[in-house]
Amino acid sequence: MNPKERMALDRHPVKELAVAERIKSFDEVTAGYDAETARMEAERCLQCKKPKCREGCPIHNDIPRFIRLLREGKIEEAYWADRETNSLPAVCSRVCPHEFQCEGYCIRGKKGKPVAIGMLERYIVDWMVANGKNLLKTCAIPKEKKVAIVGSGPAGISVAFYLAHAGYRCTIFESLPVTGGMLRVGIPAYRLPRTIIGAEFEALKNCGVDVVTNITIGRDKSLNDLKAEGYDAVFIGVGAHDSRKLGIDGEDLDGVLHGVDYLRRVNTGEDLDLGPRVVVVGGGNVAIDCARTALRTGSDQVFILYRRTKAEMPASQAEVHHLEEEGVKVEMLAAPVKIHGENGRLDKIECVRMELGEADSSGRRRPLEIAGSNFMIEADAIIPAISQRINVTVSQGLDIAMSRWGTFEVDELTQQTSVEWIFAAGDAVLGPQTVAKAVHQARMAAESIGRFLEGRDLREGREEDEIVID
Ligand SMILES: Cc1cc2nc3c(=O)[nH]c(=O)nc-3n(C[C@H](O)[C@H](O)[C@H](O)COP(=O)(O)OP(=O)(O)OC[C@H]3O[C@@H](n4cnc5c(N)ncnc54)[C@H](O)[C@@H]3O)c2cc1C
Ligand code: SF4
Repeated sequence: MNPKERMALDRHPVKELAVAERIKSFDEVTAGYDAETARMEAERCLQCKKPKCREGCPIHNDIPRFIRLLREGKIEEAYWADRETNSLPAVCSRVCPHEFQCEGYCIRGKKGKPVAIGMLERYIVDWMVANGKNLLKTCAIPKEKKVAIVGSGPAGISVAFYLAHAGYRCTIFESLPVTGGMLRVGIPAYRLPRTIIGAEFEALKNCGVDVVTNITIGRDKSLNDLKAEGYDAVFIGVGAHDSRKLGIDGEDLDGVLHGVDYLRRVNTGEDLDLGPRVVVVGGGNVAIDCARTALRTGSDQVFILYRRTKAEMPASQAEVHHLEEEGVKVEMLAAPVKIHGENGRLDKIECVRMELGEADSSGRRRPLEIAGSNFMIEADAIIPAISQRINVTVSQGLDIAMSRWGTFEVDELTQQTSVEWIFAAGDAVLGPQTVAKAVHQARMAAESIGRFLEGRDLREGREEDEIVID
């Protein structure tokens, strides 16, 4: 397969062959384990009595159990052991930042490489698919109660998964024409094959979940309208989709595209040509996805501006490694201060050098501008990818308590908001975080919604939701 054909798998056209040569192909990025490698890796697990990996996993998956079953050759049982707590194993095994979560806590990692938990989880799911196994249990007999789920990202999918399996009638309302939230419009296809997201929705539909796209709750219809239409409870899983601005002069010029807006446009099929020279601002995974996507849409001089050093980058090391392999340079200790342009279009970015001062509240050393160190970079486009906020359109017309960070305030155990029939989870509550955290909170919310619909106590016995390791 030539590089162009390989890249077609990513759905992104590559215009320069020289760039295509250095971009990792879909297959290279996503290659999984074969049976023997999986078995050997599973043998490395020490089956710790107090498994640290479970503490590091936001979902608290019983990792030692599924690894044990895998090495005993009971792969189907291993899958069901994982699926007990993880509603999106095919997704999490591919995109979780394992080095900060389960693998970061694995005891093996103290003196060498941690057990490759993500790859083992992925092997189990891939084996199920390859062997034509059923990935979901049968759904319960439908009940009368109806739940409206706003947002079709990992949080919405997970709530629908648990409630539909308990027999509740669920409808997901999604403002975009496509489903999956950031799984589809944020995370690029070369990291997460779209067939996986499609399969999740197929499974939900088979379980009776209705999905309505192109409807923005709070604008086209309010939460109160949903209640009046007979929904007994509502779940808010609207994520964090508004890009944070740099707040510098020139940010309104043509050629400035903010991170998640840029990715959404590419991921929904827009053919964007940014020009050859692209500067991405930020040090997280979103910045890296923007830079690697820009390479795939034909820009050949892409680099990242980051105001701290590589050691402070919040992105996973694996992602930084892929980025550098693909030829994207990271300009450390530098930040943009002004975007210059002519006739309404950017042509240069004025930057300043930074140095690191004392540690701030995040524990990372604070970047400080070095006076008089300004320099110019010629560019065709700039993609600020410094963070996202939540959009509160959904709650228009209803007074729901918000935190000082502009996220939905919820009871930490039950995920109930200040309005008793409304629950929330995922990025809408946590700010931009991870798939696994959204999945875990959504599972807590689904448990609460079920109890609410049955008129049961939302809190009783809930400590069982916490991880118990003896
Ligand atoms: C570029 C990028 C890369 C990422 N990479 C990773 C990664 O590698 N690993 C990882 O674990 N996490 C990653 N994340 C984070 C992860 O995608 C999110 O934490 C996760 O998707 C949050 O799930 P959610 O369901 O809360 O929200 P979302 O996935 O954001 O879904 C919310 C949905 O609600 C819809 N919506 C919003 N408002 C309304 C409304 N008023 N009415 C109807 N629908 C509405 C939105 O259109 C969206 O579809 C990444 C995020 C981005 C942006
Ligand atoms: S911490 Fe590592 S070695 Fe211990 S049970 Fe978990 S995966 Fe196995």
